[in-house]
Amino acid sequence: MKSEKPDTAKDNTCSVPPKAGRKPSDGTIPVKVGQLVFGAKEIVIVAGPCAVESREQLFETARAVRKSGAVMLRGGAFKPRSSPYSFQGLGEDGLKMLREIHNETGMPVVTEVMDTRQVEMISQYADMLQVGSRNMQNYPLLREVGQSKLPVLLKRGMMATVEEFLLAAEYVLNMGNENVILCERGIRTFETSTRNTLDLSAVPMLKRLSHLPVIVDPSHGTGIRWMVPSLSRAAVAVGADGLIIEVHYKPEEALCDGYQSLSINEFDGTMKELDKVAVAIGRDIHR
Ligand code: PEP
Ligand code: MN
Repeated sequence: MKSEKPDTAKDNTCSVPPKAGRKPSDGTIPVKVGQLVFGAKEIVIVAGPCAVESREQLFETARAVRKSGAVMLRGGAFKPRSSPYSFQGLGEDGLKMLREIHNETGMPVVTEVMDTRQVEMISQYADMLQVGSRNMQNYPLLREVGQSKLPVLLKRGMMATVEEFLLAAEYVLNMGNENVILCERGIRTFETSTRNTLDLSAVPMLKRLSHLPVIVDPSHGTGIRWMVPSLSRAAVAVGADGLIIEVHYKPEEALCDGYQSLSINEFDGTMKELDKVAVAIGRDIHR
């Protein structure tokens, strides 16, 4: 009989940088944002509008998502829009509103920083700094947020491999900021039926290669409202430590990403489903 040779293929083909790449046997090292912990047994749901558009829009949406069980608020004040003619965000006025609703609801706030010159100002209002997909390889920005005391939500570049994603995180860690949370938000592929292809396989891969908590953005990951609930459930099932979901009190009137934003009712229903999936895998949704 012919003797079988062992299959020596590796379980990944990615080299990992020293700080972002975990040593064998290390688990996920939790990252705190205010009182919240990402990377523990409890899964953290971040929700809110794509962009802060008005007091009414932000406050009504924020109160509703809190009521449904979100524990952290998202909302862009500086928006990286593909077209320079699209709504660019309310800037510092939007940040002030985010702080105000934080004070009312207690939800920590994450908002995007697009430029090194904004880090100091945005840090006065935010609890976590978001580096967007388009800036994942903006090395000066990564170094700047690496010097911040605030945790960083690093979104995967739409054209970035897992290795490049971890190398981007390495820039932040190298500057002394150890509080990095990775966010899978979909990548560009040949598929055009969705806005992006949500690479859920990146979640277990990142969790294997790195000690950093991993969350999933099913809103940008699909770009389609009706797909967000099912991909949210799948993200929890595959091991995500949290989700960041776009919700709008009137999605059809949104100035940004309305077609992928859940209504308040849809978000509420999704949360109830997520509870069941979390329990099925031995975790809980933090409420
Ligand atoms: C966002 O979160 O609103 C956003 C712009 O996301 P991304 O950088 O992933 O496109
Ligand atoms: Mn958006």
